[in-house]
Amino acid sequence: MEYTEIMVRYGELSTKGKNRKTFIQQLAQNVRQALRPFPEVKIQALRDRMHLVLNGADANQVMQPLQKIFGIQTFSPVVKIELDEEKLKETALAMMKDHYVAGETFKVVTKRAYHEFIWDTHQINQEVGGYLFEHLPYAKVDMKNPDVTLRIEVRMDGIYLMSQVIKGMGGLPVGSSGKGMLMLSGGIDSPVAGYLAMKRGVKIEAVHFASPPYTSPQALVKTKQLTAKLAPYVGSISFLEVPFTEIQEEIKKVVPEGYLMTVTRRMMVRLCDAIVERRHGLAMINGESLGQVASQTMHSMVAINDVTNTPILRPVITMDKLEIIDIAQQIDTYDLSIQPFEDCCTIFTPPAPKTRPKVEKAREYEARLDVEGLIQRSLEGIKVTKIDAQYDEHQAEKVWNIDGELVAETFEEEDFSDLL
Ligand code: ATP
Ligand code: MG
Repeated sequence: MEYTEIMVRYGELSTKGKNRKTFIQQLAQNVRQALRPFPEVKIQALRDRMHLVLNGADANQVMQPLQKIFGIQTFSPVVKIELDEEKLKETALAMMKDHYVAGETFKVVTKRAYHEFIWDTHQINQEVGGYLFEHLPYAKVDMKNPDVTLRIEVRMDGIYLMSQVIKGMGGLPVGSSGKGMLMLSGGIDSPVAGYLAMKRGVKIEAVHFASPPYTSPQALVKTKQLTAKLAPYVGSISFLEVPFTEIQEEIKKVVPEGYLMTVTRRMMVRLCDAIVERRHGLAMINGESLGQVASQTMHSMVAINDVTNTPILRPVITMDKLEIIDIAQQIDTYDLSIQPFEDCCTIFTPPAPKTRPKVEKAREYEARLDVEGLIQRSLEGIKVTKIDAQYDEHQAEKVWNIDGELVAETFEEEDFSDLL
């Protein structure tokens, strides 16, 4: 069956009142970006739905990237034909044959906006329904709860037919809620948090604290690979590698064991907050789940949040570990996350940090540090790269600083394997 367009329905979007226009514009932009490999496809964004006119592009190929775009409730491949009753019957049958399974029930639903057409709504349902009944094996009509509904719309410029409704991702178009900095470790929880934030329209940048040589290059690559798993929902994601070694060494020198974790987290939040400001974000996002570990009790949150007024979104805060793992598996981050590479926190923090740290104590120990200087030096050392779904650690990479100035370009690694 050769489809002529894809019809996209918005769902929640169309109820968003005043914001609707910006939501739809953002969605159209995201769809255009995802369909870059198909320049012939024309996008018409209307108030209540979007038409993607295929102009010869393959419907199945075009529908694939649509499966990962937030803000799409459902979509349907559509065939448009001229106002011709014979053609209508044949096309209806061809379309059903595309996916109809013998013995399934069906019904025909017609909308007629163009009243000059030779058949009225009732006649169309009768004629087309009868024709399908005759030609489909073991077909049954069911008006109440059919397996397949064939929709026919008669308009002045032609007849539109569709018989499949494919579920989209739901959520809101990425970018429509502003930008947030995702604190991305190599663990299970933070990639899931990033995915869920994107689902509600947040454009994310990944912020990763690395402490070489205590943390390995593989740990960094792994975090970039996780970012690549999140990229298909947006195209590409900026990845910020933040140098954290000096800060951890200084903390270790002057802060008592029980407060290492709290002070480390406070420094992470300060840094991330500074990044939010410099790169024009609105919030931070992390993968904390209430009570999961010592740093994630409410008492700890009070002591850590003390250093900022910027909102911290915690998308998985109320989820059980198994619920988080479920999503990690769906979005294919789980297998990467469980690879055992040391995190900067595991190396420096003692096995039993305080579950009820006191704000005053944290402030007091921290006064022993040159907080401003440490933050500034770390910010200046940030390396920004762009990561898309095709990320490959051996590929050449452009590197920017925190202000978006290009500072380096790495080269493709040469392959000497044939010489070995
Ligand atoms: P995750 O599975 O995301 O690593 P976790 O359960 O291991 O989470 P913690 O290690 O306590 O929990 O980290 C809590 C949150 O702090 C993480 O979800 C992440 O958002 C942030 N975080 C921890 N370590 C780093 C890091 N090295 N770089 C960036 N963010 C980090
Ligand atoms: Mg972790």
